[in-house]
Order: sequence, then structure tokens, then C-alpha cells
Amino acid sequence: MSTAPHGWQPDGRLEDEAMRLYAEMTGLTLEAQLFASTRMAGRTAGLFRPGAPPCIALSRRYLDSCSAQERRDLLLHELAHYHLWRLGLRRAGHGPPFRALMRQWGFSRYPNADIMQALRRPDTSVRLLFVCPVGHEHWLRRRPKSQEISCGICSRRFDRSYLLRDTGVRRAAVQEPSHRSRS
Ligand SMILES: [Zn+2]
Ligand SMILES: [Zn+2]
Repeated sequence: MSTAPHGWQPDGRLEDEAMRLYAEMTGLTLEAQLFASTRMAGRTAGLFRPGAPPCIALSRRYLDSCSAQERRDLLLHELAHYHLWRLGLRRAGHGPPFRALMRQWGFSRYPNADIMQALRRPDTSVRLLFVCPVGHEHWLRRRPKSQEISCGICSRRFDRSYLLRDTGVRRAAVQEPSHRSRS
């Protein structure tokens, strides 16, 4: 039986990624569960919850919208909270020991403000700017599942010579009104 809060989904891929990162930074084995949350509000990109087992939850929508670097930053941020807790520093917060780890592990504290702002508002969603080698701009609704997608303007079929690259640029887009029936 899982005791995870509503909307928290175990994510094996995320857990593998976190295990590797944590081992890389500390040489230790991560003993925490990783979740992606569909219900996490726009104010929180990730959180660490102490307990048995300790849990790390990341916002699914943020993960869908952020760059690879931002994903790594977010994971390292929550892993740092976990690590300090594991070392017995239960009230470390974002204080000096946390900042020391930030420098040592090399991550930045704040999630992408453009993404957070877009996720906070109910009438907007995030668009992600990808470009092809020629310079065609593609505003995607979410990070592609596959790392390799090619430009549909340059070639109708998948073509490795026209792979799209993530620029890291994000903007909020107003969503089309949803279809609600009125009686
Ligand atoms: Zn934090
Ligand atoms: Zn193109």
C-alpha cells in the first residue's frame, strides 16, 4: 500500500536519474522514493518530505516544460534537502549548509520563473522554443518524449540532419477556452 499523497505517481525513470546523480555527488546510495505530481501547484516545482521512506516529489508539468539543465538543477536541489536531512541537519532549510552544497554540487536554486508563472495561472500554459539547424522556430506544448525530433518544415520525414535543439526559452500562452456545456 502506498501512502503517497493524491496525485503523486511513482516514477522509475526519475528515480534512476536521481540515484545516478546522488551517487555521482556523494558516492552514496539514494534511499528515497521519487514521485512526479500532477497536482502540485504552480508555486512548487519540487519538494522533499522526510519520513520512512523519505520522498521527493517533482511537478510533472514543470518537468514537461523545463530544459535538461533545469531538470538537473531541480533534482539536485531536492537531493540536497534529502542529503542534509540524512546527515542529521533537520532544520537546514536553504541556510549556509544548503548553500555550501549548492556550490559544491553546482546547481542553481530557483526554478525557471517563466515556467512557474505560466503554471500558476489557470488560463495559461507553457510553450517551449526549439529550433532546427536552419533556424525554424517551433513552440512546443511540452518537452518531447524522444530526445530526437526533427524539423517538419525542413523534412516531412524524420531526418537526423534537421534535429531540433532546445533553446531553453519559454513563454506563457493563453489556453483556448475549454468546451463547457451550459444548460
Ligand atoms: Zn528548497
Ligand atoms: Zn527547419
